[in-house]
Amino acid sequence: MTATRIDGKAFAEQVREEVAEGVKALQEAHGVTPGLAVVLVGEDPASQVYVRNKVKQTEACGMNSFHHVLDASTSRESLMSLIKSLNDDPEVHGILVQLPLPDHLDSKDVIEAIDPAKDVDGFHTSNVGELWTSGEPFVPCTPLGCLKLLKSVEPNIAGKNAVVIGRSNIVGRPMAALLLNESATVTIAHSKTKDLPSVCRQADILVAAVGRPQMVKADWIKPGAIVLDVGINRIETDDGKGRLVGDVDFDDASTVAGAITPVPGGPGPMTIACLLANTLEAAKRSVS
Ligand code: NDP
Repeated sequence: MTATRIDGKAFAEQVREEVAEGVKALQEAHGVTPGLAVVLVGEDPASQVYVRNKVKQTEACGMNSFHHVLDASTSRESLMSLIKSLNDDPEVHGILVQLPLPDHLDSKDVIEAIDPAKDVDGFHTSNVGELWTSGEPFVPCTPLGCLKLLKSVEPNIAGKNAVVIGRSNIVGRPMAALLLNESATVTIAHSKTKDLPSVCRQADILVAAVGRPQMVKADWIKPGAIVLDVGINRIETDDGKGRLVGDVDFDDASTVAGAITPVPGGPGPMTIACLLANTLEAAKRSVS
């Protein structure tokens, strides 16, 4: 078997086009332009790249982008005061504080200060609670992107066995909640799980969100299963340039899986697209 390659890059482009249309419709109907505020504290190079991409794609969709860069030594009081002003600003519909934060700032404390109605990352406990009680949450962007990719190849998730490897607050747990809300039978695996390969072999849908390069092999996968690889890991190469790989050994797994996401080009590009979709949704809710 050679698995269908699920193209996250193409799908993300489609989501961005839909968002751009939604932005126009909202402007025409209500005179409102969705606005996303991104807050970056410090100069972490990877975070700077993410934030640049977010700003570029936000503007390309016709939304307003508000970009706040704070010094790494910024005090809790200054950051909280900025978040309060963004909470109160009617032109800002979504607020994203780029993680990780410098050590002297507590990310949970900061996230809880964001108005849940503007928490387009879906990390506020109010949104987490809504997600687990089948409410109307903002869903964290990476798992939301994974669900959209999954539905593009399998609209009927109810009754399927799903295994999520990883239980982080930003990927594993919300992914499991989304699959449960779609009536899958969900197992959450983690570093203490016994005989992980045999647990994974039960999965019709396997999500890997671990951070271990190419850990999942062909013999961990049920023939025909759908495999979503969230991992982004840099490995060394002979030419010294290195390359990105997922948590799944793509070539090996493709011989057994029914459909699989590549890395790069899988869930990664969907993350920012879903952030834009969440911001549009927040702006729509603000006028309804
Ligand atoms: P975390 O480090 O927060 O969580 C990793 C999880 O994997 C933990 O629950 C851990 O278990 C589990 N784990 C670690 N080792 C093993 C093992 N040997 N067997 C089984 N489970 C294991 O990572 P994140 O969830 O933040 O990210 C996971 C991956 O996804 C990373 O590669 C990251 O770069 C990528 N990522 C990609 C995004 C994107 O596409 N935009 C966004 C976010 C993340 P335990 O809880 O027991 O420690």
